[in-house]
Amino acid sequence: MTRYLILGVLTGFLLVTSGCRPALSPKATVFKPIVPRILDADNALAEARALVALGPRAAGTPGARQAAGHLLVRLQAAGVQSTLDAFTDETPDGKVTFWNVMGVIPAAGPDSPRGREAAKAPWIFLGSHFDTKSGLGSGFEGANDSASSSGLLLELARVLQAAGPLPVNIGIAFFDGEECRQSYTARDGLHGSVHAVRALCLNRRVDQVRAVIILDMIGDRDLTVTIPRNSTSDLTSRVFRAAAAEKVRDKFALMAGAMLDDHQPFLEAGMPSIDLIDFEYGSAPGRNDYWHTPQDTLDKLSAESLGIVGRVVIRVLNDLMMEAVSGRQTPDAR
Ligand SMILES: [Zn+2]
Repeated sequence: MTRYLILGVLTGFLLVTSGCRPALSPKATVFKPIVPRILDADNALAEARALVALGPRAAGTPGARQAAGHLLVRLQAAGVQSTLDAFTDETPDGKVTFWNVMGVIPAAGPDSPRGREAAKAPWIFLGSHFDTKSGLGSGFEGANDSASSSGLLLELARVLQAAGPLPVNIGIAFFDGEECRQSYTARDGLHGSVHAVRALCLNRRVDQVRAVIILDMIGDRDLTVTIPRNSTSDLTSRVFRAAAAEKVRDKFALMAGAMLDDHQPFLEAGMPSIDLIDFEYGSAPGRNDYWHTPQDTLDKLSAESLGIVGRVVIRVLNDLMMEAVSGRQTPDAR
């Protein structure tokens, strides 16, 4: 992650909205909510540690390619249908090859062929970037930014795959090239998420996307998830309600401003999106001085924080899936 923006600047370049509405599940089916405590936070931390052990993962380097291959293997080991999506994009340093890792857990109903059900069901995407900021030396771990969210996303994928069949399609996205090389422009940063959004638009899937939940820097042992203002308010409300139910409401707050992160391209294409990010990652409360420095190391993370965010995400997913099953459609509060 990313660059901090003041809200006034951001609203100037938002392209919203396409008027898309959440798709409804085709048929009411029985859905049993996933028990949040099934999530194994120690496993999420172990996955983060394994990713860090590979070395720096700056986009366009062999390290990023290796990390993508590793995430693909881990996702497949969880039983998730997964692919490597390689693409090239212009950057300030010329053309670069990026590697997104994409997984799908298809929707299914008990009384219809899996494929037909999945084609009509809503989509929920869970995303994390996995690249590390470049220029921080050969020892840079990127433990919180971005191994923490990638480790948790692998664990969430495992839980969701095991909990199926689900009433919605779940997309699991590990984005390459989130970090910019110089400063965020149309050619610098957010490459993976922009590429994924382009594919959704080409495949006319945008209107089927009910929610996009981006995880970034969520492993800090001193956890405060600071939800940026440029998140869809309906999803922000659901996260606060889920956090209250999980008795961790004090760990979640609204950021004073907006962030440019991987949820932004989805928002601009008209998809409800939220960024769960802790942008107070530092040596004292409220400070962010570990961010993009050699101090972003594994010892700053805790399984407890990964567990808190993971369980809240499961509750939000339960909420959205129950709604899809009941056919109830809440107003798009974006
Ligand atoms: Zn970053």
